[in-house]
Amino acid sequence: MLATKDDLKVCSGCKENKPVSEYYKNRCAVDKLVSYCKTCISNYVKANRKKVNKMGRIRRRKNPWPQRARSLCNKAGLKFVTGEELKALYEQHNGLCYYCGHTLNPHKHSKKLAERLQFDHVIPGLHEARNLVPSCQVCNGRKRDNTIEGMERFIRQIERHQKVNNVKQLEDQEVMDGLLA
Ligand SMILES: [Zn+2]
Ligand SMILES: [Zn+2]
Repeated sequence: MLATKDDLKVCSGCKENKPVSEYYKNRCAVDKLVSYCKTCISNYVKANRKKVNKMGRIRRRKNPWPQRARSLCNKAGLKFVTGEELKALYEQHNGLCYYCGHTLNPHKHSKKLAERLQFDHVIPGLHEARNLVPSCQVCNGRKRDNTIEGMERFIRQIERHQKVNNVKQLEDQEVMDGLLA
């Protein structure tokens, strides 16, 4: 049965009868509440810090999207994207960097910057899900607060400089990674 605001519930840990506001929600439970009160849970977390952190790491490895959405939202100071939306964006772009086409792995913090998944604001400062594209750390770092037009200008500048000064192109990604590491 669904608990209402004024109901009391006995905690499975401390056995105290506490108001339902003292319990976190659990969608799977019959009364939609966890069986331990907030105090008992916070005590457990304090006493088992390492184990809880490990569980979090395992959960994030399985589903990295909610955490990624949270960190993007925190950076923007605005709730503008969900984990599901990020996952959909990633799949929509076939897991490739929008700018350079490198394969991105959301589950692994790769040593290679060109494999690290980030999300870039196509128009800088516009915090909307549809303004995000998956980008590798190399491209995202290079683009920073630039628009695509700004990037194109930058690339033309590089090309002009390379042509005029006869600079050899660095094609090898490993060399690029080495330079940017
Ligand atoms: Zn308790
Ligand atoms: Zn890239």
